[in-house]
Amino acid sequence: MRPITYLRATDTATAVAAVSTDPTSDFLAGGTTEVDLLRQNVLNPRRLVDINDLPLTGIEGTPDGGLRIGALARMSDVAAAPVVRERFPLIAQALELGASAQLRNMASMGGNLLQRVRCSYFRDAESACNKREPGTGCSAIEGFSRGHAVLGTSEHCIATHPSDVAVALTALDTRVHTLGPNGERAYPVDDFFLLPGDSPHREHPLEHGELITGIEVPAMPLARHSLYLKVRDRESYEFALVSVALALSVMNGTIADVRMALGGVATKPWRARRAEDFLIGAATVRDNFALAARVEMADARPTPMNAFKVELAQRAIVRALDTLGDGTGPGAGSGSSP
Ligand SMILES: Cc1cc2nc3c(=O)[nH]c(=O)nc-3n(C[C@H](O)[C@H](O)[C@H](O)COP(=O)(O)OP(=O)(O)OC[C@H]3O[C@@H](n4cnc5c(N)ncnc54)[C@H](O)[C@@H]3O)c2cc1C
Ligand code: SF4
Repeated sequence: MRPITYLRATDTATAVAAVSTDPTSDFLAGGTTEVDLLRQNVLNPRRLVDINDLPLTGIEGTPDGGLRIGALARMSDVAAAPVVRERFPLIAQALELGASAQLRNMASMGGNLLQRVRCSYFRDAESACNKREPGTGCSAIEGFSRGHAVLGTSEHCIATHPSDVAVALTALDTRVHTLGPNGERAYPVDDFFLLPGDSPHREHPLEHGELITGIEVPAMPLARHSLYLKVRDRESYEFALVSVALALSVMNGTIADVRMALGGVATKPWRARRAEDFLIGAATVRDNFALAARVEMADARPTPMNAFKVELAQRAIVRALDTLGDGTGPGAGSGSSP
């Protein structure tokens, strides 16, 4: 048995000081990732600093049409908040399609962004895994890789980023706010998640003890016309094989503006910039949707086991665009701008 000490922090400064000055400490929010990995001997903290009493649970719309979400707001509360459902339906959908009702009641937004990969070799302390133990190798590349990534991979790691809501937030140019030993910072979401490269154990730029305090979603009127499409092996309580977060503005059968991000296929929540660039100004017809999907997936590097994801991702992108853009024929979709 490993002894673990426990501290319940009541203010952010104490929480940051407690973790940043002790390399064996971890923050504890809902515990739905942290406690699992502790039991599996993947994480070995000597002290847990419980942050659940910190005043970081707010969910509020900003006057300009954006959103501020505290790091300790629970997934279920964010999904149910009228301001989220009205302004950013893709965020509410991504949350509701994740985990289970019980987990969503426990799990926090900050913890969701920092959840760890579901690669079975990462979670088996006996397997070689560069992410868990740098330099030991990657068991998945020659092993079981059906759920793994096809974009943003490296020869050192091919694990998929597991979060759903992070995909929606990536489509929306969100910023992640933190408080660390060196003060406050704000990270654009695309810089917050790191590609594995040759250091897959580094998943984000945070220092040890840097606390996520909140998430800021900028005003984006087109997000009122948005969706999160999740394709998985079963209809509930399952991670994505492929997901698409999409916000679309269509004027007179032409795409005026679009934001798209992909989940389940990449080593980080994947902003689909190539598809976006292709689609802006394009007619809402299925041929264009298929071309955009092909352009986005052109650099995919699948393993023999997950090659199906390349086609599946393209179909999911087309389906999402069809759903919001009504791409059934020339001129379709006119007037669907929010
Ligand atoms: C069976 C199962 C199914 C799941 N299915 C899905 C799914 O389909 N989609 C999906 O998106 N997710 C899924 N999840 C993941 C779940 O959403 C995450 O476990 C949860 O969001 C983590 O939040 P938490 O508050 O419990 O974090 P914790 O477990 O408390 O913490 C997670 C990590 O983040 C750190 N941390 C927590 N809060 C902060 C903070 N504010 N600042 C800095 N560090 C912090 C902790 O130290 C820890 O390392 C699933 C989980 C389980 C167990
Ligand atoms: S894919 Fe990444 S997490 Fe999985 S075994 Fe390889 S290095 Fe580890």
